[in-house]
Amino acid sequence: MHCPFCSAEETKVIDSRLVAEGYQVRRRRECTQCHERFTTFESAELIVPRVIKTDGSREPFDERKLRYSIQHAVGKRPVSEDDIEKAVSHIIHQLQATGEREVASKLVGNLVMDELKQLDKVAYIRFASVYLSFEDINEFSKEIDKIKDLA
Ligand SMILES: [Zn+2]
Repeated sequence: MHCPFCSAEETKVIDSRLVAEGYQVRRRRECTQCHERFTTFESAELIVPRVIKTDGSREPFDERKLRYSIQHAVGKRPVSEDDIEKAVSHIIHQLQATGEREVASKLVGNLVMDELKQLDKVAYIRFASVYLSFEDINEFSKEIDKIKDLA
Protein backbone atom coordinates (compact mmCIF):
# COMPACT_ATOMS: atom_id res chain seq x y z
CA MET A 1 0.00 0.00 0.00
CA HIS A 2 1.00 3.63 -0.42
CA CYS A 3 2.98 5.44 2.27
CA PRO A 4 0.64 7.71 4.31
CA PHE A 5 3.52 10.14 4.89
CA CYS A 6 5.04 10.72 1.46
CA SER A 7 2.58 8.79 -0.77
CA ALA A 8 5.33 6.62 -2.18
CA GLU A 9 3.87 3.53 -3.82
CA GLU A 10 6.26 1.01 -2.29
CA THR A 11 6.11 0.08 1.37
CA LYS A 12 7.41 -3.16 2.81
CA VAL A 13 6.08 -5.31 5.61
CA ILE A 14 8.69 -5.60 8.35
CA ASP A 15 6.60 -7.49 10.88
CA SER A 16 3.31 -9.38 10.73
CA ARG A 17 1.45 -11.00 13.59
CA LEU A 18 -1.98 -12.25 14.53
CA VAL A 19 -3.87 -10.15 17.06
CA ALA A 20 -7.44 -10.05 18.45
CA GLU A 21 -7.31 -13.78 19.15
CA GLY A 22 -6.30 -14.49 15.59
CA TYR A 23 -9.08 -12.50 13.93
CA GLN A 24 -6.83 -9.66 12.86
CA VAL A 25 -3.40 -9.36 11.29
CA ARG A 26 -1.25 -6.48 12.49
CA ARG A 27 1.47 -5.44 10.09
CA ARG A 28 4.34 -3.04 10.65
CA ARG A 29 5.30 -1.42 7.40
CA GLU A 30 8.17 0.75 6.36
CA CYS A 31 8.26 3.14 3.44
CA THR A 32 11.05 2.40 0.97
CA GLN A 33 11.33 6.16 0.20
CA CYS A 34 11.04 8.17 3.46
CA HIS A 35 11.56 5.19 5.80
CA GLU A 36 8.65 6.19 8.03
CA ARG A 37 7.01 3.26 9.77
CA PHE A 38 3.30 2.69 10.23
CA THR A 39 0.92 -0.06 11.27
CA THR A 40 -2.00 -1.61 9.42
CA PHE A 41 -4.67 -3.98 10.71
CA GLU A 42 -6.40 -6.45 8.48
CA SER A 43 -9.64 -8.18 9.41
CA ALA A 44 -12.42 -9.91 7.54
CA GLU A 45 -15.12 -7.57 6.35
CA LEU A 46 -18.35 -9.28 7.26
CA ILE A 47 -20.79 -6.71 6.07
CA VAL A 48 -23.81 -7.84 4.12
CA PRO A 49 -23.63 -6.27 0.65
CA ARG A 50 -26.19 -3.66 -0.37
CA VAL A 51 -28.79 -4.72 -2.90
CA ILE A 52 -28.96 -3.28 -6.40
CA LYS A 53 -32.58 -3.30 -7.48
CA THR A 54 -33.66 -3.89 -11.08
CA ASP A 55 -34.23 -0.14 -11.57
CA GLY A 56 -30.60 0.46 -10.59
CA SER A 57 -31.34 1.98 -7.18
CA ARG A 58 -29.54 0.62 -4.12
CA GLU A 59 -30.95 -0.29 -0.75
CA PRO A 60 -29.43 -1.73 2.42
CA PHE A 61 -29.88 -5.46 2.80
CA ASP A 62 -32.97 -6.04 4.94
CA GLU A 63 -32.90 -9.25 6.97
CA ARG A 64 -36.51 -8.80 8.15
CA LYS A 65 -37.71 -8.47 4.58
CA LEU A 66 -35.83 -11.63 3.63
CA ARG A 67 -37.35 -13.55 6.55
CA TYR A 68 -40.80 -12.22 5.71
CA SER A 69 -40.62 -13.27 2.07
CA ILE A 70 -39.55 -16.78 3.08
CA GLN A 71 -42.29 -17.02 5.74
CA HIS A 72 -44.79 -15.72 3.23
CA ALA A 73 -43.81 -18.34 0.64
CA VAL A 74 -43.83 -21.10 3.26
CA GLY A 75 -47.29 -20.06 4.57
CA LYS A 76 -48.96 -23.00 6.28
CA ARG A 77 -46.56 -25.55 4.84
CA PRO A 78 -44.88 -27.99 7.25
CA VAL A 79 -41.69 -25.95 7.65
CA SER A 80 -40.43 -25.05 11.14
CA GLU A 81 -39.35 -21.57 12.24
CA ASP A 82 -35.99 -23.14 12.94
CA ASP A 83 -35.65 -24.22 9.30
CA ILE A 84 -36.64 -20.71 8.18
CA GLU A 85 -33.96 -19.22 10.45
CA LYS A 86 -31.38 -21.63 9.04
CA ALA A 87 -32.35 -20.61 5.51
CA VAL A 88 -32.06 -16.90 6.43
CA SER A 89 -28.62 -17.29 7.99
CA HIS A 90 -27.46 -19.50 5.13
CA ILE A 91 -28.46 -16.83 2.61
CA ILE A 92 -26.79 -14.06 4.65
CA HIS A 93 -23.64 -16.15 4.94
CA GLN A 94 -23.56 -16.68 1.17
CA LEU A 95 -24.02 -12.94 0.58
CA GLN A 96 -21.14 -12.15 2.96
CA ALA A 97 -19.02 -14.77 1.25
CA THR A 98 -19.34 -12.95 -2.09
CA GLY A 99 -17.02 -10.29 -0.65
CA GLU A 100 -18.93 -7.73 -2.72
CA ARG A 101 -20.18 -4.40 -1.40
CA GLU A 102 -23.20 -4.55 -3.65
CA VAL A 103 -25.06 -7.46 -5.23
CA ALA A 104 -27.93 -7.61 -7.72
CA SER A 105 -31.35 -8.33 -6.22
CA LYS A 106 -31.52 -11.22 -8.71
CA LEU A 107 -28.73 -12.96 -6.78
CA VAL A 108 -30.67 -12.64 -3.52
CA GLY A 109 -33.79 -13.99 -5.25
CA ASN A 110 -31.86 -16.95 -6.64
CA LEU A 111 -30.44 -17.75 -3.21
CA VAL A 112 -33.96 -17.68 -1.74
CA MET A 113 -35.16 -20.02 -4.50
CA ASP A 114 -32.28 -22.43 -3.78
CA GLU A 115 -33.17 -22.54 -0.09
CA LEU A 116 -36.89 -22.97 -0.69
CA LYS A 117 -36.24 -25.72 -3.22
CA GLN A 118 -34.64 -27.72 -0.41
CA LEU A 119 -37.21 -26.77 2.24
CA ASP A 120 -40.53 -27.23 0.53
CA LYS A 121 -41.48 -27.64 -3.11
CA VAL A 122 -44.82 -25.84 -2.81
CA ALA A 123 -43.21 -22.86 -1.07
CA TYR A 124 -40.60 -22.82 -3.80
CA ILE A 125 -43.25 -22.68 -6.52
CA ARG A 126 -45.13 -19.93 -4.67
CA PHE A 127 -42.01 -17.83 -4.38
CA ALA A 128 -40.80 -18.54 -7.90
CA SER A 129 -44.19 -17.63 -9.40
CA VAL A 130 -44.10 -14.22 -7.72
CA TYR A 131 -40.37 -13.70 -8.09
CA LEU A 132 -40.20 -14.62 -11.75
CA SER A 133 -43.50 -12.68 -12.02
CA PHE A 134 -44.66 -14.88 -14.89
CA GLU A 135 -42.78 -12.52 -17.17
CA ASP A 136 -41.66 -15.41 -19.20
CA ILE A 137 -44.18 -18.23 -19.08
CA ASN A 138 -41.65 -20.60 -20.65
CA GLU A 139 -39.18 -19.84 -17.90
CA PHE A 140 -41.82 -20.61 -15.31
CA SER A 141 -42.85 -23.89 -16.87
CA LYS A 142 -39.18 -24.82 -16.99
CA GLU A 143 -39.09 -24.27 -13.22
CA ILE A 144 -42.14 -26.49 -12.82
CA ASP A 145 -40.44 -29.18 -14.87
CA LYS A 146 -37.38 -28.96 -12.64
CA ILE A 147 -39.64 -29.55 -9.62
CA LYS A 148 -41.20 -32.57 -11.29
CA ASP A 149 -37.72 -33.94 -11.81
CA LEU A 150 -36.89 -33.43 -8.15
CA ALA A 151 -40.14 -34.92 -6.84
ZN1 LIG B 1 7.07 7.47 2.69
